[in-house]
Amino acid sequence: MTKQRALILQVIRESGQHLTAEEIYQAAKKQMPNIAQATVYNNLLHLAAAGEIRRISIQGEKDRYDKTDVPHIHAICEGCGKIWDHPSEGLLQKLEQEMGVPIHYYELAVHCKCKDCASNVSN
Ligand SMILES: [Zn+2]
Ligand SMILES: [Zn+2]
Repeated sequence: MTKQRALILQVIRESGQHLTAEEIYQAAKKQMPNIAQATVYNNLLHLAAAGEIRRISIQGEKDRYDKTDVPHIHAICEGCGKIWDHPSEGLLQKLEQEMGVPIHYYELAVHCKCKDCASNVSN
């Protein structure tokens, strides 16, 4: 793995958020000022294809990138667009039991309101 690729992976894993390619580039540049934007974008494609990270596509929004080392699903707020993680330990096993076949990969998002938005409703 190149130094650039390792850095990008580290940025994604250490971020508690779901960063866009631009945000990852900005964070990588702080530690490696010479890194080119194209290098970051190419490495994101490569890491996603290799399953090291995953790309989250949300309609009408920029793609975001996420770690894959902790099993979780995404909750997306319909009010402010915030995305947060919810642990999904055991979910895969439950689904596999029900379906009777091994699952290689799943992508699951729930749409709801975050606690802030839910409590901001005035009436
Ligand atoms: Zn919200
Ligand atoms: Zn996530």
